[in-house]
Amino acid sequence: MKRVYTAADPLLVGHVAALLEGRGIDCVVRNRHLAGGVGELPPNEVWPQVWVADEDAFAAERLVAELESAPAPGTGWTCPRCGEQVEGQFAVCWNCGAEAPE
Ligand SMILES: [Zn+2]
Repeated sequence: MKRVYTAADPLLVGHVAALLEGRGIDCVVRNRHLAGGVGELPPNEVWPQVWVADEDAFAAERLVAELESAPAPGTGWTCPRCGEQVEGQFAVCWNCGAEAPE
């Protein structure tokens, strides 16, 4: 298994996990309920994390990189394919995988 994504916000982690599964990549979210109260560990060790099988890591990291290269947060958009509201930091619809309009 390989960790491909971590963030302080469990919603972001859930979004990434949903996107990966939407692309056919099985993933596991670890630390979903561990936030806070683990003072000995560095923050990025206690944040929720998305893990995938080693053979899926390359594809998963590419998808995560696509997400992270999305437009600035705060400018949400409506998916042209399924009509879902998507937060501005994501370049790809979490629901159907369509890319954000220009
Ligand atoms: Zn969509």
